[in-house]
Amino acid sequence: MNKGKFGPYGGQFVPETLMPALAELEAAYEAVKTDPDFQAEFNHLLKTYVGRPTPLTYAGRLTRFLGGAKIYLKREDLAHTGAHKINNALGQTLLAKRMGKQRIIAETGAGQHGVGTATACALLGLECVVYMGEVDMARQQPNVFRMRLLGTEVRPVSSGSRTLKDAINEAIRDWVTNVRNTHYLLGSVLGPHPYPTMVRDFQSVIGYEARAQILEVEGRLPDFLIACVGGGSNAMGLFHAFLDDKKVDMLGVEAGGSGIETGKHAARFAPPPADGGTGVAARLGVLHGTKSFVLQTPDGQIAETHSISAGLDYPSVGPEHAWLRDLERAGYTYALDDEALAAVKVLSEQEGIIPALESAHAVAEVIKRAPRMPKDAIIVVNLSGRGDKDLDTIMRELAP
Ligand SMILES: *Cc1c(COP(=O)(O)O)cnc(C)c1O
Repeated sequence: MNKGKFGPYGGQFVPETLMPALAELEAAYEAVKTDPDFQAEFNHLLKTYVGRPTPLTYAGRLTRFLGGAKIYLKREDLAHTGAHKINNALGQTLLAKRMGKQRIIAETGAGQHGVGTATACALLGLECVVYMGEVDMARQQPNVFRMRLLGTEVRPVSSGSRTLKDAINEAIRDWVTNVRNTHYLLGSVLGPHPYPTMVRDFQSVIGYEARAQILEVEGRLPDFLIACVGGGSNAMGLFHAFLDDKKVDMLGVEAGGSGIETGKHAARFAPPPADGGTGVAARLGVLHGTKSFVLQTPDGQIAETHSISAGLDYPSVGPEHAWLRDLERAGYTYALDDEALAAVKVLSEQEGIIPALESAHAVAEVIKRAPRMPKDAIIVVNLSGRGDKDLDTIMRELAP
């Protein structure tokens, strides 16, 4: 089974009953890729509804503050709903409509993907059900309310740890039962083929825009791309258009949480501490229908991950990232909770932009790296979302 493999990663690991649905989805996706009507409709919505192209902003004060490379921000925080997730949600909802599906299901942890999905379904008039663990619902009240306001049914999941993992299980159960009229809308470059490829393609508009924009203002390509990596969709969205530009370095930033040695993190690519730490380590495994690095406990259970940013708090990572890392085409590092918080403050004060805590992980890496780079070097950092959703956390953590 070589379908949708990125080297040894990816593939399709799902119950037999879902194989026809994946085949149907793959065929439909292959068809719309080259269908000018679909592409025109998608691009029209990206332009008139999402507000694309999003700007590429030169961060002049931050650049002078850090005293090294020139820093440009790709402004996904200015997309409708305040993050990049809407690009993929709209693409998949349009595709589902084409396939004659009347119903969309999704699962959400922090609620950001749920809100993106609910938004796309409201716009395109499809029924929408979002599964969410009860613990997450309590933690993310405003997003639960947003989804309901958008006409989506939020179904509480009370099994297991009542968080994202359990919501995924319930969503897959629903899909198996209702596969004829239902599309499962996955929110990142995860899951069985064709999702990692399809989600990347729907997000690749980020990098294609950034590439044209930097060529226009600088007359050359950037030296460095930096993006945060949860499942990995905003990073793949930025990286994809530059993969053949061998001189452009790429760096993904994972959530280092409280520190790798504490076991409380979501840095799937970080080397384990020398003394083994708590025993939590990433090993090759299957989660959510795809093979990739998965953070596990010593006895092979999926580890409880931690990050101050809900969007990076996931035990696995998109299979294409694992492959790009093997190929040494992209590098991966992590930023700690505290470093991300400090980066929120720096970007807010230097540029008047309050970033999402996820995006702040990428900014934290810029703060470390830019001063060590020559002044004529260029960094493009993906600002995947705005920080309004995180204000409570930021206020609590930065309180004097
Ligand atoms: C969900 C989210 C992320 C993480 O998801 P990726 O698939 O890794 O992009 C990053 N930033 C923001 C603002 C998010 O909402």
